[in-house]
Amino acid sequence: MTARRPRPTAADRARAAAEDVRARPCPRCTATTLVARTTDRVAALDVRADPTPLEPVAEILARLDGRLTWCLIEHEHVGRRLRWRDPWHIAAGRCPHTVVADHRCPPQPVQETLL
Ligand SMILES: [Zn+2]
Ligand SMILES: [Zn+2]
Repeated sequence: MTARRPRPTAADRARAAAEDVRARPCPRCTATTLVARTTDRVAALDVRADPTPLEPVAEILARLDGRLTWCLIEHEHVGRRLRWRDPWHIAAGRCPHTVVADHRCPPQPVQETLL
């Protein structure tokens, strides 16, 4: 009996690549944003976030404004990942991660919205 470790499938590799946090320009406003799929296996989301880390008060304001916030986690081996922030993470001082919020495009000049 030889116990073989399952080899990563193409789907595993594709999922890992999708979870890599990359800096990409927003297609609408061209601001630099962070894009990644969250590591949640049940309801993974494709996130586009602003790269600016948020202080606790700024996070509260962002959430009051209807933006979701995310833990930006640095893994030694696999790189950066975005993770859903549940209330446990949000409670002050409990989580050591960098916090970022959903990207929201700044208001466009009227001329551009008419085109
Ligand atoms: Zn966290
Ligand atoms: Zn944008």
